[in-house]
Amino acid sequence: MNEIGHFIDGEKVAGRSGRFSDVFNPATGEVSSRLALASLDELQRAVEAARRAQPAWAATNPQRRARVFARFVQLLNDHMQDLAELMSFEHGKTVDDSKGDIQRGLEVCEFVTGIAHLQKGEFTEGAGPGIDIYSARAPVGIGAGITPFNFPAMIPMWMFAPAIACGNAFILKPSERDPSVPMRLAEMMMEAGLPKGVLQVVNGDKEVVDAMIDHSDIAAISFVGSTPIAAHVYAEAASRGKRAQCFGGAKNHMIVMPDADMDQAANALIGAGYGSAGERCMAISVAVPVGEGTAEALLDKLVPKIESLKVGPYTDAASDFGPLVTRQARERVLGLIGKGIEEGAKLVVDGRAYRLQGYEDGFFVGPCLFDHVTPDMEIYRQEIFGPVLSVVRASDYERALALASDHEYGNGVAIYTRDGDTARDFAARVEVGMVGINVPIPVPLSYYTFGGWKRSAFGDLNQYGPDSIRFWTRTKTVTARWPSGIKEGAVFSMPVMG
Ligand code: NAD
Repeated sequence: MNEIGHFIDGEKVAGRSGRFSDVFNPATGEVSSRLALASLDELQRAVEAARRAQPAWAATNPQRRARVFARFVQLLNDHMQDLAELMSFEHGKTVDDSKGDIQRGLEVCEFVTGIAHLQKGEFTEGAGPGIDIYSARAPVGIGAGITPFNFPAMIPMWMFAPAIACGNAFILKPSERDPSVPMRLAEMMMEAGLPKGVLQVVNGDKEVVDAMIDHSDIAAISFVGSTPIAAHVYAEAASRGKRAQCFGGAKNHMIVMPDADMDQAANALIGAGYGSAGERCMAISVAVPVGEGTAEALLDKLVPKIESLKVGPYTDAASDFGPLVTRQARERVLGLIGKGIEEGAKLVVDGRAYRLQGYEDGFFVGPCLFDHVTPDMEIYRQEIFGPVLSVVRASDYERALALASDHEYGNGVAIYTRDGDTARDFAARVEVGMVGINVPIPVPLSYYTFGGWKRSAFGDLNQYGPDSIRFWTRTKTVTARWPSGIKEGAVFSMPVMG
């Protein structure tokens, strides 16, 4: 049995707590590895290594810090295929999808190769008589990141790239479902020239997360995962005076206006609703056709496309999407589908009985489509995080806008229309953090920032982009006045000894 430990002070180390959890191959249902769950002692070792390494790293000039990331980006490109396969093996998503996961993290590493410019401060000459003011962006010291299972490369890189580029040491606690890629990324950062102790991986569960929040040497916490835990981590970190950014769940709507291109809208819903088995925080889980005619036209296009989706293991290149991440995730999704039927929604496409020959123990759920979902239903209120799309029919545009705005989550939203006026009004008024206009998954590029509104995010600074440089640094502002100096009384003749 393969055993996965931690990455502390520049090397892989075995776990010493005696506690483990299983990592699965979701396509077969078999246990692939045993993951060590860290104790407080192991976290303490990582913090001590970080304290030793961080001052020299912060004092390393920014071009040199940037060059580590330039080399790391090259290594990521060189190893794209093997990293993607390793990810798919533990996560279950297709290899192309895993490459997208790596690519979106890689782009943030590219962004921070500009750290020399990004971390510059401000300067005002003559802010008062003889007074100058300048500010500098100093690293916070040691940062910690806690990441979800669904993007095991992208989200760790969204966190550690800006944190480390700014001169911090960083301790990553990846998801216990798919820890192998994060461990590999830490090794690759060392190959790229990062000093030991600057990036470490401590595997574990709630126990080590709570210890991270509590540790007085950890100055900042970045969390991505489900909303109840994001809210908990945010509150606990804030109560200890730490800065925290905590990102939670989502229920992303896609509004389809009567003038939309129905083929484009249906294709967008297929990709954004069922890609990665719906296990994306930017997945579309609610389709909102506006008007009965739009609903009928959309369903006519959608249903045959959903019925022809191919569900299978990542090893089959023809698979459109793979299994869910765990048996528990599968049972939870099946439970919610049952609840939707009980509550009166119409299950138009039923993927519950889906089985694949040779993979009978895999965590597969076939694609499901609910019609006539209403806002009071559990399947509308909760994030399902599975291959289940709900159709909520809206009578008019204002109703559709209100649905997206009133939902407790506000991560992403999309509108499909050919009308610029509608699109512009929607983008301006909708209460959601990331908006797509004829774009189903509007994940901003690395030089913007990523973050939802309402209960999708806690804290005020987003992930990556300029916000991340602010999050991972503290501003120091210096006001300086110099009394009149030697220039007043400078003597230009050769000094002589009396
Ligand atoms: P999760 O909340 O179960 O786990 C996230 C992390 O928290 C993991 O590292 C886990 O070990 C840790 N954790 C779990 N229980 C904990 C506890 N009680 N106390 C402290 N830490 C705990 O989430 P997941 O299932 O891995 O990921 C899916 C969720 O993440 C979905 O809700 C999805 O929408 C969300 N997500 C959000 C974003 C975003 O940017 N908003 C991005 C990706 C995923």
